[in-house]
Amino acid sequence: MSAQAYRSTRSTTHEDLSFEDVVMTGLAPDGGLYLPSAIPKLPPSFITKWKDLSFNELAFQIMRLYINEAEINDSDLKDLVARSYSTFRAKEVTPLRQLDENLYLLELFHGPTYAFKDVALQFVGNLFEYFLVRRNSAKAKGEPRDIVTVVGATSGDTGSAAIYGLRGKKDVSVFILYPTGRISPIQEEQMTTVEDSNVHTLSVNGTFDDCQDIVKSIFGDREFNDKYHVGAVNSINWARILAQQTYYFYAYFQLQKLAPSSKVRFVVPSGNFGDILAGYYAYRMGLPVDKLVIATNENDILDRFMKSGEYAKQQGVGVKATYSPAMDILISSNFERLLWYLIRDNLTGGDDAKAGTVLNQWMTELKTKGSFTAPSAVVDRARSIFDSDRVSNNDTIAAIKRVYSESPEKYVIDPHTAIGVETAYRFLAKEPAQYISLSTAHPAKFSEVVNKALESFEGYSFEKDVLPAELKALSSKEKRLKLIDEPSVEKVKQAIRDELKF
Ligand SMILES: *Cc1c(COP(=O)(O)O)cnc(C)c1O
Repeated sequence: MSAQAYRSTRSTTHEDLSFEDVVMTGLAPDGGLYLPSAIPKLPPSFITKWKDLSFNELAFQIMRLYINEAEINDSDLKDLVARSYSTFRAKEVTPLRQLDENLYLLELFHGPTYAFKDVALQFVGNLFEYFLVRRNSAKAKGEPRDIVTVVGATSGDTGSAAIYGLRGKKDVSVFILYPTGRISPIQEEQMTTVEDSNVHTLSVNGTFDDCQDIVKSIFGDREFNDKYHVGAVNSINWARILAQQTYYFYAYFQLQKLAPSSKVRFVVPSGNFGDILAGYYAYRMGLPVDKLVIATNENDILDRFMKSGEYAKQQGVGVKATYSPAMDILISSNFERLLWYLIRDNLTGGDDAKAGTVLNQWMTELKTKGSFTAPSAVVDRARSIFDSDRVSNNDTIAAIKRVYSESPEKYVIDPHTAIGVETAYRFLAKEPAQYISLSTAHPAKFSEVVNKALESFEGYSFEKDVLPAELKALSSKEKRLKLIDEPSVEKVKQAIRDELKF
């Protein structure tokens, strides 16, 4: 097997980085995202060979193609996978459930924080620890240990998934900033009731944007970074995209057993484009995917790009606060990875370094003018595998109602999942195929919107029908958090110093 090498999307020279380098660094110093220059191909007759594998076995086979054996050997990789998914409540990890004729839901929310980000972050936490333990065990007595201080801002889902991925991990500390009073009570309880001493929650009196700005300036602070080795686990980390590929394969094989079909389409509620990008890798590796459908909320930069070829921040308007807050973005960070492949394969004749040059130009235009327009060679290629639609708040509510009232078991979906389901129904009506819509969160996490949709139904009860006992129990646990009384970088840095005591 050939060695797998990684590079930054914005690099204009030859780069040959290891998996460990890209996982531990997160964002490339040139501002780009790391990716494998060559997308591995699936082994011949993988369908017969892989169709009966368990989720963990599939995860191992796929990851093996992206991680050199010299970096992580077979038994260690199997162990990392097994530990990452032992925390899931469902034995299939990501079960597929039929919702309607030709429509299936892929339930990605059976991890510790009840959202799809667990699939990736449980694995990332174990990887961080694995690499740190190995580096530190090679050190002489008295030599300083390698550590990572993960600092992140959250408006809800990412923070809790990061905390549950990193809790109790050796040589890792995690600090999560969130805006006081602006995340849901369940999300706050999930983050603040974790007892592990390496977990720190900072409730910042400000907005989510304030929190993000503070994190950005901490990342840019050389001196602070040199001392505390600040790391990131947001959706730019390559290991997250890698871990998410497994469920596209798993769902494909499950569906073949229920309803064999050559036309399988995935519908993905999208924000930063991390989830659906994993589907793109699966497709490029050779999984027979007919279409990947991007479903956006009213923050619809991706849908507008697919329709017009122009990637444009909306002028004068900030990010809209919608009923699906985990998808509220102005630009989709991971889209840069897709663009890189589209440029390299369609514009620069397969030349990696030249692709970096073109991408840099586009990103500069985006920054200075707020938009760029991709040439038709790129847009047409994108349209050959992707399609898209956009769903309003009202249609989000309508989809939650529809699924509840039409399913015999009165199934409740969360508002993010609803964006996918609504999009899937629209496509089903015009383009027949088998649709798998990704279900990205448990409805209990978004009680306000779910109740708004369902409270008029007779007999509906959030406590009885939606709230799992495990989440209910959180409200009686002791909370551990530090209040930061104003959005000040200095105050957050001081809080980190105080906690780490060095
Ligand atoms: C993060 C998130 C999404 C969006 O995923 P991207 O990878 O950012 O496109 C959708 N739904 C939920 C519940 C999420 O937490």
